[in-house]
Amino acid sequence: MRNIVIAIDGPAGTGKSVTGKLLASKLGIQYIDSGAYYRAITYLSIINHIKLNEINKINEIARNLKLNFDGENIMLNNVNISKEMRSLEVSNRVSLLAKIKPLREIITEKLRHYKENGSLVMDGKDIGTVVFPDADFKFFFTSDINVRAARRQQDLVDYGYRVQIDKIVNEINKRDEIDMTREDSPLQKATDAIEVDTTFMIIEEQVDLLYKTILQSVNLEDIKK
Ligand code: C5P
Repeated sequence: MRNIVIAIDGPAGTGKSVTGKLLASKLGIQYIDSGAYYRAITYLSIINHIKLNEINKINEIARNLKLNFDGENIMLNNVNISKEMRSLEVSNRVSLLAKIKPLREIITEKLRHYKENGSLVMDGKDIGTVVFPDADFKFFFTSDINVRAARRQQDLVDYGYRVQIDKIVNEINKRDEIDMTREDSPLQKATDAIEVDTTFMIIEEQVDLLYKTILQSVNLEDIKK
């Protein structure tokens, strides 16, 4: 039995989190949404009126942050912040905050600790490149921008937000641009990652593809839970 790490990276709206969640439950292992850390810190910085240039205060929030993943919900000190974290206000600011190098180091450290609890699926932007460069499996999801925006719009509806599609296209394009061009750990495909274009795929196909790829080289019984 051994711990295995499955990294799923890619831009917003490519289906990483829903695929990651289902894949993890099929394998009986933990699923970690790394973006939740960046979003929770952004949310806390907004409600505490902390400016982007107040880096020490932002880092302090990050150091003290304890998130719990309770099924569908992201809990911060027993408060469910799943909806607040996905607001357009948070989405429009999160990538600017995610450029801060010391903040990334604090979060990366926290993310690495999850491996001590057993095998995991983690999705994000730099999981296969920086957080777990030795991950056993690395996937990089891509998708057409219109499909991504439509998926994001549906996610927002599920959380009770109504946002016009052009606003979403704008938001994800801007976020991609910042995430891909930042100096520290930019969003990019790890050289050894398998690229999965999800434009014409449904969730079940995505989960199935990853599941089969993993079981080609690992026995289910050998995966430490
Ligand atoms: O995955 P999600 O869309 O919730 O991530 C929100 C933002 O958090 C990303 O656009 C990116 O700026 C930042 N992020 C990051 N590294 C990660 C996960 C998220 O920089 N591993």
